[in-house]
Amino acid sequence: MEKIEQEIKLRGKILPGNVLKVNSFLNHQLDPLFLNEMALEWYKVFKDKNVTKIVTIEASGIALAVLVGLLFKVDVVFAKKSSSFNLSNCYNSKIYSYTKGKYFDILIEKEFLKEGDNVLIIDDFLANGSASLGLIDILNQASCNLVGIGIAIEKGFQEGGNILREKGIQVESLAIIESMDYDKQEITFRK
Ligand code: 5GP
Repeated sequence: MEKIEQEIKLRGKILPGNVLKVNSFLNHQLDPLFLNEMALEWYKVFKDKNVTKIVTIEASGIALAVLVGLLFKVDVVFAKKSSSFNLSNCYNSKIYSYTKGKYFDILIEKEFLKEGDNVLIIDDFLANGSASLGLIDILNQASCNLVGIGIAIEKGFQEGGNILREKGIQVESLAIIESMDYDKQEITFRK
């Protein structure tokens, strides 16, 4: 998607450790019209796949996932990253957070995933694939079908995309970064 590449070049900031900061439209301030354009891209790709549920992880995936849920007219479930007193009877998995550098449990209450649900996963970034693999683990526990994964920004120089595609999963990334240079603040996209 040309526009997301332009926005990343214009407003993105490369941080040490291969982290891209896009707080102006995706990770802090949200640009609803632009996020809606992204949601439409995934809708076009997956609209004939009988999607019955959208699944994401808190927090940054939620805004995108809600817009996608509006288009498909289906519920959106976000995995929570920590246990709390108002969560019970959950599926859970463990993921490694790339940006926080630590492991988290992710949880989804069992009542929100039905056997046979056709699930589209939506997330803001794909790096090493831990978040997606954790969600897939939960979908397997719930006997749901994975329709595909919609990612706003894939960092193609990390392993996540390869791992998921080698499993035969349809991963639709709106921008794939080939390389990022912290010193020059330069980003190259995969064409
Ligand atoms: P993965 O689990 O694929 O290694 O990383 C994906 C998750 O880590 C995303 O849900 C996102 O929240 C976070 N993440 C990974 N890389 C970046 C990055 O460069 N920038 C930002 N803002 N988040 C990232």
